[in-house]
Amino acid sequence: MSYTALYRKFRPDNFADVKGQDHIVTTLTNQIKHNRIGHAYLFCGTRGTGKTTVAKILAKAVNCEHPVNGSPCNECAMCKAIQAGTAMNVIEIDAASNNGVDNIREIREEVSYRPTEGKYKVYIIDEVHMLSTGAFNALLKTLEEPPSYVMFILATTEAHKIPITILSRCQRYDFHRITIDTIAARLDELLKVEGVTAEEKAVRYVAKAGDGSMRDALSLLDQCIAFYLGQELTYDKVLEVLGAVDTEVFSKLLRKVIQGDVTGSIHILEELIVGGRELSQFVGDFTWYMRNLLLVKTSENPEEAIDVSSENMKLLKEESTMLEAETLMRYIRIFSDLSNQIRYATQKRVLVEIALIKLCRPAMETNLDSVLDRLRVLEQRIDERPVQQGTSATGADTAVTATAAKKAPAKAAPEDLQKIVAGWRVITGQTTGMFKQMLQKSVPKYNGETGEPILYVEFQDFLGQSYVDNPEAKKELQDIIIAQTGKTVEIQMLVANQHQHTNLANITVDQAIKDNIHMDVVIEEDPDEPLE
Ligand SMILES: [Zn+2]
Repeated sequence: MSYTALYRKFRPDNFADVKGQDHIVTTLTNQIKHNRIGHAYLFCGTRGTGKTTVAKILAKAVNCEHPVNGSPCNECAMCKAIQAGTAMNVIEIDAASNNGVDNIREIREEVSYRPTEGKYKVYIIDEVHMLSTGAFNALLKTLEEPPSYVMFILATTEAHKIPITILSRCQRYDFHRITIDTIAARLDELLKVEGVTAEEKAVRYVAKAGDGSMRDALSLLDQCIAFYLGQELTYDKVLEVLGAVDTEVFSKLLRKVIQGDVTGSIHILEELIVGGRELSQFVGDFTWYMRNLLLVKTSENPEEAIDVSSENMKLLKEESTMLEAETLMRYIRIFSDLSNQIRYATQKRVLVEIALIKLCRPAMETNLDSVLDRLRVLEQRIDERPVQQGTSATGADTAVTATAAKKAPAKAAPEDLQKIVAGWRVITGQTTGMFKQMLQKSVPKYNGETGEPILYVEFQDFLGQSYVDNPEAKKELQDIIIAQTGKTVEIQMLVANQHQHTNLANITVDQAIKDNIHMDVVIEEDPDEPLE
């Protein structure tokens, strides 16, 4: 037995079964009952809202031998022939593939002959906005003086593309997006017929995912049922099949952000990327998560407004007490901005990292322009020379970069150093305590004059002084670099503005190395933040 998709199997065959378009159904049945049928109808609305379904029912109703209350009887020969698609007097045309003048001329010639069966010749033209200008003009001539036995039903998702001359000759009906309640009720009916048991929540989730389209909702339900054939359809199974995100990870991430833990949040991001999550999708999903949290925080009955499992609701409620609504709104704003930027960005990861830092470090939001500028420079990739923008916003560093800006390095940074810098965040992330904090604020540099393969680690904080002549610290860093890159490198640690090396320059990573080694930004901590 061949399988019929649910949306075909359960396509309504009478007006009573059409859901969510009562305003249209009532008008049409009244017209049929009182024999006031028009000659040209225009059905507008988004996909899956029932336009072609209603068009077919209308075609049957006007031709039916014994209409019942304005609806087709579905029993007479005419109804059966139209239902089976064998009736000669109901012609369906897809304007997407038949959009030329000749296609419409053909119709004009046919129109002059009376229908051989039934009362009306009905032309259903789907996607009518696809017709060429010439075709529209040809159609217009027919619409101006249609024979009494001809009826046109034009359907479109884009009414604004229909010429006004055509619009003015049609009765226009706007199909609404179908509400979640209406879709859910219909899905329930069909599940009963199919003998599938399902949790109410599962059904509502599918209805919601249909986004106003009954057809989409039915297709999604089909997928879910096919995946768990013969089993009860639970909310969790639906989430799994429809690829809904695991909100637990968002909960984890948000808690890190609330704690102001930059490194922790970046690690979670890293896990997500390793797990194959697409970043634009992630940004959208996380924004939605925070939106849910805001609803939990501000509404009386959040359970009714949000589709999450009871466990996740518990987490949300817990989190809602951890932060103020204003803070949450700031988070949402930053991530909404991000979702606009990220779509066409090449360095998506860097953008997300910056956004996470912004969330963790409110004070940084105003001085992040320098970081964004760096990003712009990276993306333009026009300057081969070391990046001149400061890597830190501290006043001390501005002086250093100013000197660096005056003198372009004579030699490019050695490849080994570039590789180290490309993985700098990962390398420094493996140290601990105060050393880690100092390293994460440091700027890796090289001698731009000689280009010798020595890594100068320039601490931006004077507290870094304690590591400058510390052989153990140096050894620790060297060992991590060997483990990470396989390179042994000479290291010299120094404190910005307290050393005599005037030729030091920032290390720019070549595109080729960037492409081969995972690209990381050095995370800047808020300079005003007291050290733990
Ligand atoms: Zn009939």
